[in-house]
Amino acid sequence: MSDDTVPTEADLTGATARRRPKAEALDIGGHRLSPETLMMGHGYDPMLSEGALKPPIFLTSTFVFESAAAGKRHFEGVTGKRPGGAEGLVYSRFNGPNQEILEDRLGIWEDAEDALTFSSGMSAIATVLLAHCRPGDTIVHSAPLYAATETLIGKVLGRFGINWLDFPAGATREEIDAVMERAHAHGRVAMVYLESPANPTNALVDIEAVVASRNAVFADLEEKPPVVIDNTFLGPLWQKPLRHGADLVLYSLTKYAGGHSDLVAGGAVGSKAHINVIRSMRNTIGTITDPHTAWMLLRSLETLELRMSRAGENAARVCAFLRDHAKVEHVGYLGFLDPGGRQADIYRRHCSGAGSTFSLFLKGGEAEAFRFLDGLRIAKLAVSLGGTETLASHPAGMTHLSVPDARKQALGITDNLVRISIGVENADDLIADCDQALRGV
Ligand SMILES: *Cc1c(COP(=O)(O)O)cnc(C)c1O
Repeated sequence: MSDDTVPTEADLTGATARRRPKAEALDIGGHRLSPETLMMGHGYDPMLSEGALKPPIFLTSTFVFESAAAGKRHFEGVTGKRPGGAEGLVYSRFNGPNQEILEDRLGIWEDAEDALTFSSGMSAIATVLLAHCRPGDTIVHSAPLYAATETLIGKVLGRFGINWLDFPAGATREEIDAVMERAHAHGRVAMVYLESPANPTNALVDIEAVVASRNAVFADLEEKPPVVIDNTFLGPLWQKPLRHGADLVLYSLTKYAGGHSDLVAGGAVGSKAHINVIRSMRNTIGTITDPHTAWMLLRSLETLELRMSRAGENAARVCAFLRDHAKVEHVGYLGFLDPGGRQADIYRRHCSGAGSTFSLFLKGGEAEAFRFLDGLRIAKLAVSLGGTETLASHPAGMTHLSVPDARKQALGITDNLVRISIGVENADDLIADCDQALRGV
């Protein structure tokens, strides 16, 4: 047995009892393996599945115990009598082989201790909120948020006596402190909830400043409110918020992680302590993803780095073309931040890439935006983002149609705004498509 086939400690502690410790390498002679390498096999032992190279899809609602005592031990884990969840598989509302392998691999991207997957991004967010909030609590959050998250916090949790206080995504440390202090004075703060970059403004939140503010303002508390962040737009490749002090990172895996516009799923990654709180709630309400979707996501994660890198390169080229075009007023792309500005400072500290989703402001209004959208030949007209194909939509008339005019104006959601998510097509083809669509405007 060579050194690199000896199971590492992470193998032994990270694997569940179901999957016996396997000769999997996480590093080779001190060289640490990258996520893109580990996505091909991490967390799966073919010998447990007849030697199948790829994991089968485990379509079963329940799992057989080796003995009555083993069944009892598993339930002690499920009910939280012993921390860390069940040692083996029990029932498919709690977990399954496909989901466990997926969770092991999802955590790798951010070097997280643990991860969970959910039936959608919103069910991940809802489970986290339900796990932390009590009547009378305040949620401090950055603004704007994904529309359904805003509805959930403002309208749904509001019915249960939960309040919120927000600060603008680009807020300074002083502005964040002021909001945190107000919330702290008011009573228990359930969590600090962030979304960065914000949709659809692309404004970045200073995660490091938020964490420092939380630590300072709640210094008197032993248990401080967790900092939770929706990292759907840049994660898990271009922004890794755990490194900047966030406690929990949430995902709509429907977007870049799934990446083929053919599934809906969500994820959460963080420390074991934080994940265990959410796992209990997920076990109770059953917001776990299904085995088939988990299997599709395993496939998606194998190409995540390839897809996101290509989409990012394509977006840089398309944006460079659009920026200089006579019919374009402005391109809201993270690669074009004013180098001396605060947003660029946040970007340099937090992000390793500008992503592939951006805002295009055309000269004119709705008519010009619609002519551009209708003229596109390659890009499909659809909401969502992060797929292999390029998508374009009109926020004012689609995703944000029900937002009051004054709020739309405050968020910069104007009639001439087109949202574009660039895919992995040939960049020259995408530029040719934009070029001909702009000619028709
Ligand atoms: C899409 C999205 C969500 C919701 O995810 P679903 O998978 O559609 O439930 C949440 N946050 C952001 C930033 C999103 O883009």
